[in-house]
Amino acid sequence: MLRMLMLFDIDATLVTTSRSGMLALGDAGRELFGSFEIDGIDFAGRLDPLIIADLLRANGRAADRANTTAMRDGYRRHLTRRLAAPGIARALPGVHGVVERLCAEPGVTMGLLTGNFEDTGCLKLRACGIDPDRFIVRVWGDESPHDPPQRHHLGAVGLERYRKLHAREARAGSVTIIGDTPHDVECAKRNGARCLAVATGSYSAEQLSTAGADRVVIDMSDVDDVVGWLVGDRGSRMANGQ
Ligand SMILES: [Mg+2]
Repeated sequence: MLRMLMLFDIDATLVTTSRSGMLALGDAGRELFGSFEIDGIDFAGRLDPLIIADLLRANGRAADRANTTAMRDGYRRHLTRRLAAPGIARALPGVHGVVERLCAEPGVTMGLLTGNFEDTGCLKLRACGIDPDRFIVRVWGDESPHDPPQRHHLGAVGLERYRKLHAREARAGSVTIIGDTPHDVECAKRNGARCLAVATGSYSAEQLSTAGADRVVIDMSDVDDVVGWLVGDRGSRMANGQ
């Protein structure tokens, strides 16, 4: 049996939370410091620890441990409150079907590779009716072993967790990263993985294709097509290096 690892991004790939994450970070900052601006900070595809550090600095605050811890605490509380509002959080088109199908696929190990912290990433997924435990290999935004952390560092962490889980290496070409930004594409390329890009975030299909994604879809609503590309004709696709 050919084994495969699928590593899914969360925001704008599996779910949309109507900017709840950004807004909750703004809430947390205002609660701590009074005024606090979130405009002008790049959120898409980036690691939460870097986003919090950028926000603190942009607002004239030290990105030290005390402020970072306080921001994380406030972020979690305000995100919980915001996600409880009806209609705010939902799985993107086709996601429930794709996850369901892949979980039933022999040899497929489901995973997450995300800029989110574990607690808030799980909050977002659960708010959209997705059980985080369906993803066996999970790599979170604060798990880079390097300083400064970058998203592509997380690929190696995921591969190592896969190796420990199965007592074998993930074969070259058997790992796919699914994401919505050029950061996800770069993470795949730097880790020898394929990339399925979904244009459900702030980047167009053309931009994701230019970034080097192996396949781009507008969304995952065509479940058969998406699952077919991810697991179908595995041998021939790998042989062709596509
Ligand atoms: Mg994303």
